[in-house]
Amino acid sequence: MERRALIKNGLLLGLSAALPLAPLAAMIKRRKPNAYTGFHEFELGKLKLKVVTDGHILFKKVQPGFAPGFPAAAVEKLLNENFLPDSVDLGINVLIINTGSKQILVDTGCGSSLGENSGWLLKNLPLAGIHPQDITDVVLSHAHPDHLGGLLDKDGNMPFKNADIYIAQKEYDFWMVAQPDFSKSKMDDQELKALVIRVAQETLTKTKPRLHLFEDGDTLFDCIRLNLAPGHTPGHTVTTIFSEGQELVHVADLVHSPVLVFAHPEWGFEGDTNFELAAATRRKVLGELAANRKQVFSYHLPWPGLGHVRKKEDGFEWVQTGFALPD
Ligand SMILES: [Zn+2]
Repeated sequence: MERRALIKNGLLLGLSAALPLAPLAAMIKRRKPNAYTGFHEFELGKLKLKVVTDGHILFKKVQPGFAPGFPAAAVEKLLNENFLPDSVDLGINVLIINTGSKQILVDTGCGSSLGENSGWLLKNLPLAGIHPQDITDVVLSHAHPDHLGGLLDKDGNMPFKNADIYIAQKEYDFWMVAQPDFSKSKMDDQELKALVIRVAQETLTKTKPRLHLFEDGDTLFDCIRLNLAPGHTPGHTVTTIFSEGQELVHVADLVHSPVLVFAHPEWGFEGDTNFELAAATRRKVLGELAANRKQVFSYHLPWPGLGHVRKKEDGFEWVQTGFALPD
């Protein structure tokens, strides 16, 4: 059939809109759990940084976990325009900062809290030349299981046995009451909510002797600045790593998809403890990152999580940093 005839029949013009999303998802092939062992290494001023994977968390459908309550047609259109399937596969990119005298872990992965697709950090760290006992400090962005779950191993012991642990005072206070307040979240899954609360409370209780509680704007070790970016959780922290005039901003769970919440910061995530505040914070911080052309590190965006934020129309876009060679 000639091209003209195709167009006449509306086949070509209608092609992108008619393409179902499922075959794209089927194209994503995975190795067996625990088979990914790569790490990414780079420098920031005098600091040596490594990214190690803890695995991934696959949401088989975008909604309702992401953009809960927003029009399905608009979500599908945005996914189609960006060649994305109707699923979100979150990376778990763990950053390690080597200052020369300290090895600082920013978040710890899931440990055994979320099943076999995650919790790979302990196995992968030595492959990057780092042994758990070498970690001197752990900075936590917040107390969700995929960020602090790795503080305890499956037997309840601390693999980072020489580390001091830092978490925002506001975050600690939120979780350590009998019933943390989820009234402003869109999370419906009661079982998941109970798991999240249990892992936070058990882990923070067991590691209490090692905990240091920080406030908004505090700095650590002359290379880390801690700023609260509340909403995802009350003490959710954005960590700026700095050395010799260079900066890298670790945005933790400000974003979970390279497209959805960049185009529409208000679409949010079911896991946001305060959905509206998270959206407002997201828009504000993304605006600052874009305006100041900051180098960004993201815990959940595609490996190894490095890129920049650019303003686009009423929202933003993620510009992933590419590399000529594989890790
Ligand atoms: Zn997370």
